[in-house]
Amino acid sequence: MKIKSLKLYDTGYCTHPEKIAYAKGSWKQIRFPATVGLLQHPSLGYILFDTGYAEHFKEATKKFPYSVYAKLTPVHFTEEQSMKQQLLLDGIHPEEIKYIIISHFHGDHTAGLLDFPTAKILTFAKAYEDIKKRSKFGTLLKGCLKDTLPIDLEQRMTFIDHNPSMKLAPAYGKFEEGYDVFGDGSLLAVDLTGHAAGQFGLFVHLHSSKIVFLCADAVWLSKTYQNLVFPSKIANLLTSDSTSYRQNIEKLHHLSQASPEIEIVPTHCEHTWDKIKAGVYYE
Ligand SMILES: [Zn+2]
Repeated sequence: MKIKSLKLYDTGYCTHPEKIAYAKGSWKQIRFPATVGLLQHPSLGYILFDTGYAEHFKEATKKFPYSVYAKLTPVHFTEEQSMKQQLLLDGIHPEEIKYIIISHFHGDHTAGLLDFPTAKILTFAKAYEDIKKRSKFGTLLKGCLKDTLPIDLEQRMTFIDHNPSMKLAPAYGKFEEGYDVFGDGSLLAVDLTGHAAGQFGLFVHLHSSKIVFLCADAVWLSKTYQNLVFPSKIANLLTSDSTSYRQNIEKLHHLSQASPEIEIVPTHCEHTWDKIKAGVYYE
């Protein structure tokens, strides 16, 4: 089975010195967009890959301890930029989103979850277990805002990594093991633990035979894997497992060389933003 279409959306941005994401960069503040993918599956309907920023992010970060998040990471978005509002403009109602795939539980990926109360949620158990065991304050240190998670999350959630994994074809480079999300070959999830525990990426197999790799936050900037220039050491404070983080970047580098026809799309890269501004639509 192939995915009919993939559209990317921009839900706002935060700012950080470039050097944090790219050690050879400057201390100048640059913008990191929070992007979201909308996939159309031929029989299952609409699927979101992450949910970006939404008003719930502002509500969650009003009070201590989560107000610290907003202070450390200045965030810019309007209500119109939430996925709910942008989808309505595209004629898609929240109930039409059948599944939401959450790559990891950082606030800029989960903030829109509350806007889609009927969607089933797919993620890795490894990612959820890491958040579940922590207190509200403890999750903040992991970049997660527990207040953005729906109260019925556990009833609606299924774990992709509870299925048996499969060996991937050589075309996926050093990503040798993955999970067939719906058992139909349309979406393959690969563990990208590093940036966050249990974070994963998604190989999207499109109707045209094109493959897009939504790699979430395995890198913030594409030039990180292109040039193998890693984030500054300060970023280690935000990283769950810095050894795996580097290994994933090396795997992305290898993939980009070995299978250049696979388009690698990181959530927060400026080039992903450029694609959205240019109206890129994958079929
Ligand atoms: Zn993240």
